[in-house]
Amino acid sequence: MLGFCFQMAIFAQNFNTQMRTNRTFTMIKPDAVEKGHIGAILEKINSAGFRIAAMKLTHMTTADAKEFYAIHKERPFFGELVEYMTRGPIVAAILEKDNAVEDFRTLIGATNPADAAEGTIRKLYAASIGENAIHGSDSDENAAIEGAFHFSGRDTF
Ligand code: UDP
Ligand code: MG
Repeated sequence: MLGFCFQMAIFAQNFNTQMRTNRTFTMIKPDAVEKGHIGAILEKINSAGFRIAAMKLTHMTTADAKEFYAIHKERPFFGELVEYMTRGPIVAAILEKDNAVEDFRTLIGATNPADAAEGTIRKLYAASIGENAIHGSDSDENAAIEGAFHFSGRDTF
């Protein structure tokens, strides 16, 4: 019985992290939280048709940020990025919608707010290419990895 439960738990975890392709992962970053933009940004996300599958206010440790952004560890901005992402709480969330990854990248706009389209979250709320208010996964694979970094299967609905 215990073995069966264990197998079901593994199956459920694989289902959540690997088989859902209509999900993306986001973080409302420390600058946007500090400025009081959580509510306005969630309103944009809701209005764009995303369903919230998981959400929390959390504070990344230095180790968390280094692991989350490991792909950028050789980049010149890596140290600043880790400092920025750990200086205060963030809102982490898993979002669900058809074509979630691509549509969410469109909703947040370009990495540099100076290049972001009118009405996008980064155009409205980001200060600079470094402090750019919000994260959005860049692929289905990374959405699953990043979502699983912050949430267990039982905290995802
Ligand atoms: N970043 C930065 N300087 C740069 C490029 C990126 O500080 O020249 C930061 C910024 O916060 C960005 C994050 O590193 O959101 C990750 O960079 P990426 O190129 O993956 O941009 P994103 O996918 O967030 O648009
Ligand atoms: Mg990226």
